[in-house]
Amino acid sequence: MAINLCKESELRELLARHGFHFSKSKGQNFLVRDWVPMQIAEAADVDDAFVLEIGPGVGTLTTRLCERAASVCAVEVDTSLKPLLAETLAEYGNIELLFSDVLKTDLPALVAEKAQGRRAVACANLPYYITTEVLTRLLSSRCFSDVTVMIQKEVAQRICAKAGSSNYGAFTIFCRYWADAEICFDVPPDCFLPRPKVTSSVIRFHLRGKPPCRIDDEDWFFKVVRASFAQRRKTLVNGLSSGLGLPKEQISKTLVLLGLRPDLRGETLDIEGFAALANALK
Ligand code: SAM
Repeated sequence: MAINLCKESELRELLARHGFHFSKSKGQNFLVRDWVPMQIAEAADVDDAFVLEIGPGVGTLTTRLCERAASVCAVEVDTSLKPLLAETLAEYGNIELLFSDVLKTDLPALVAEKAQGRRAVACANLPYYITTEVLTRLLSSRCFSDVTVMIQKEVAQRICAKAGSSNYGAFTIFCRYWADAEICFDVPPDCFLPRPKVTSSVIRFHLRGKPPCRIDDEDWFFKVVRASFAQRRKTLVNGLSSGLGLPKEQISKTLVLLGLRPDLRGETLDIEGFAALANALK
């Protein structure tokens, strides 16, 4: 009979039998409430798709993905999970495991090889220590239609923040450039083993085919955005002048030309505003 990975006693027995010890540095918090992987797989729109999962752990979310998707490729950095996954995923014929570091994996090449022309989606209960780095790669890889991940609630709120709020920042705009994001639901700490200190949120990104507004030079646009938020208390004129080495008069004149106040701060500008500013400064 298959192990019930969401029954803590059965999970603990599996881990003990394989001599597995949780690694804090690898961000290992495994799901132990069945409704969570079920709802993530539902929210991720994986039906008939190729799914890239990051960090399968013992396979709790993986099994739910395998039940719905055409095929799943799961990338796991911890090789000590190999024998456990061989046991928990034995009954699924549409899973391929790859033991490597997702940050060292060429995602577009992997998807091109494994998806075989199918729509590709990414799905994960992400290890917290690499959330931003992994999301940056997933969103900018240009190979997924949707990305659904569980992350810290606080990071999800930053991603979905409105211009002018304290959570709004360069990462908000980065995500908005690539995708429409929505927070699907929250997951409390008691849904994990071991329990994390904070609440998590499942967030879904629907990738855009093209940027939401005209942006002449993508690299320059992101430089302008980063410099604008590097010192939040500074005005845009001061932030951009010190961050990009542009003369203050040029920046003030550009802001006025765009109908904006010269003492504006970065956090009040929406993505269209940043696009217009970056295009004009270039
Ligand atoms: N998916 C499982 C679940 O929901 O129960 C485990 C999620 S746990 C939060 C994160 C997983 O990511 C762990 O299995 C961990 O070993 C793996 N991981 C951590 N760093 C990784 C990396 N750089 N590349 C691939 N996997 C990684």
